Amino acid sequence: MPIRQLAPDVAAKIAAGEVVERPASVVKELIENSIDAGSTQIRVDLMHGGLQLIRVTDNGCGITADELPLALSRHATSKVASIDDLENIRSLGFRGEALASIAAVADVSLQSRPRDAEHGAQIQAQNGRISEVTPAAVAVGTTITVRNLFSAVPARLKFLKSRNTEVSHCLHLLEQYALAYPEIRFMVFSENRQVFATPGDGKLFSVLVEVYGLQIAQQMVPVDGDDEHDDDTDYPLVQGYTSRPSCYKSTRQHISFFVNRRWVMSRVLTAAVENAYHSLLLAGRHPLAVMNIQIDPALLDVNVHPAKTEIRFLKERRVYASILRAVRKALLADPQLPQWQPKS
Ligand code: ADP
Ligand code: MG
Repeated sequence: MPIRQLAPDVAAKIAAGEVVERPASVVKELIENSIDAGSTQIRVDLMHGGLQLIRVTDNGCGITADELPLALSRHATSKVASIDDLENIRSLGFRGEALASIAAVADVSLQSRPRDAEHGAQIQAQNGRISEVTPAAVAVGTTITVRNLFSAVPARLKFLKSRNTEVSHCLHLLEQYALAYPEIRFMVFSENRQVFATPGDGKLFSVLVEVYGLQIAQQMVPVDGDDEHDDDTDYPLVQGYTSRPSCYKSTRQHISFFVNRRWVMSRVLTAAVENAYHSLLLAGRHPLAVMNIQIDPALLDVNVHPAKTEIRFLKERRVYASILRAVRKALLADPQLPQWQPKS
């Protein structure tokens, strides 16, 4: 084939694939935008595993009517202005790609009203075409509705799993964000039925109760630093909850990490938690844990992979050691320890 310039809509769909892999990736981007907007309440609605509809409603800062078209354009962001800003990212988003990518592979409707605006406004993107901005009678905050995801990208649709699999990916992700942001009230609905809701009272324990149930939550012990390096900024501060050895799961799926409040997945960090249990857990049994890791941003690189939950630490062994020590300390401090110590 000769070399040809791709038509803009084809190029946009290909680029979108980097960000939008499945319904859960859309949910992730929308939730992160709501968090960045300072929301204290976020409602998520899913229909047919998100393929038919994903709607996120927040009470955040909103978008002004004249900025609505920009929100849907590629490389348009309110979060980064210069290359130097990248060194000091405080927001979850910064690439200005998510909404444009989603609009390339789905129908998007965006309604918003900033806190000080008298009226709201709306805009739609359908088949890659962006509509005029029109007035909308809406509450303060933003509602984004994503319909017919991938209906124009059959190749992508084919790769998706069953509706149930897509729902569980979305829910797992939403649980992670609820755990990371206990001060935000999350309300999650699938097929018009409430799946879970968190109180938004700022307590991680309250979210644990909603996500894992009271019985399991009561079997988790608080983790609060490792004493040895708590005042040393070269080491992270590790806080959260971890399960008693008598309470376990058959997979590692319930071990969550948030680094400076960003959800990350890491084999090394998972191994640190598990190794802290040493002989306390039999093979094939895995703890539940929620680890909030605070670390000097200069010691990590968040710009590793677009939309992926990977992270690179400059001193990974130290992070490993801090987690291991913090979890160990929490387990040893539990008054119930003697009950589950192996008898020798
Ligand atoms: P990024 O998050 O990387 O800036 P996005 O494409 O996700 O890029 O969003 C583009 C812009 O739209 C954001 O920078 C923000 O200004 C605005 N925006 C998106 N979602 C919301 C929201 N829920 N509330 C307020 N502003 C939003
Ligand atoms: Mg974003």
